[in-house]
Amino acid sequence: MSVVDLRSDTLTRPTEAMRRAMLDAPVGDDVYAEDETVNALEARVAELFGHEAGLFCTTGSLTNLLGIWALVRPGDEVLCDAQAHIVRAELGAHAALHGITTRTWTSSDGTTTADQLAGLIAPDNGPFLVRTTAIEVENTHNFGGGTVWNWDDLAAVSELAASAGLGRHLDGARIWNAHVATGVPLQQYGRLFDTVSVCFSKGLGAPVGSMLLADRETIDRARVQRKRLGGGWRQAGLLAAAASHALDHHVERLADDHAAARALAEQVALAAPGACDPERVETNIVVVDTGARAAGEVVAELAGQGFSFSVVGAHAVRAVTHLDVDLEQCRAAGGALGELLSA
Ligand SMILES: *Cc1c(COP(=O)(O)O)cnc(C)c1O
Repeated sequence: MSVVDLRSDTLTRPTEAMRRAMLDAPVGDDVYAEDETVNALEARVAELFGHEAGLFCTTGSLTNLLGIWALVRPGDEVLCDAQAHIVRAELGAHAALHGITTRTWTSSDGTTTADQLAGLIAPDNGPFLVRTTAIEVENTHNFGGGTVWNWDDLAAVSELAASAGLGRHLDGARIWNAHVATGVPLQQYGRLFDTVSVCFSKGLGAPVGSMLLADRETIDRARVQRKRLGGGWRQAGLLAAAASHALDHHVERLADDHAAARALAEQVALAAPGACDPERVETNIVVVDTGARAAGEVVAELAGQGFSFSVVGAHAVRAVTHLDVDLEQCRAAGGALGELLSA
């Protein structure tokens, strides 16, 4: 049985055209900063986001780790959402490796407002309380359901943090989806943050790769820390070529993924109203409330019908649309889930 795999947009396999671009790429040793394909990609993406420099790395976990490390000293804290990828899905790396503590706001969708944030900031309360030195926001928000930040809230949060002297890190693993959904230019997003992490291996469909963006001095420091962590790599241009191909061909088409996610949600809501709100599906992620049913059970039953979803809570399942699934498959998956929940 063929499987419609909606567990993640990381599951895509490189297209034939992408594979050819990889084979043809000129390469060198990136630890010596001599891989021209990597260097070109770093310059290109830095410019896209209005930053001075970029550092191409293996994963978004590593670019988040380096970006926050650059802003926060050991023992200080970063403020973020309780469902942020950095606190839920990076295995405690920021604490385990860099001594960084976190304090979180709670929300229904992963975003916050300047008012809520103002109540959390503790920049210097003497030798009694942890010092806040940075904030972190995720756009789009993964566990929040692919949420796009409202522009005014995002700008206000960034401005408040800057005026309080805090560093600002953006986990932009799916900033491309936010850009396509809203039309807000990437530079406009980039300029609100001191450090930015973006992924090529999610909806853009590259096999490997993420990038940290910042000023030149921060990127130079991050390059040293990356090597210290064992993240230096050599002829990485083979992978940078895939990322570059993805930028050329796979950004605008994210709108198709968004339409497929919306269609999936509509099919669920048609059979099981209340399980999800299609109006809230803005990008390529759909989180569905399984009600009285255990999420694990629902996922197992769907797998039996050829649809792969993931469990993201005791009563929550997630579908992520991507390059390797089409509109009809997504409709069918939504229909199967809706039917199961209405039974
Ligand atoms: C996927 C993802 C990352 C990075 O994950 P890696 O698997 O380490 O590349 C970071 N943030 C968010 C929100 C993500 O979804």
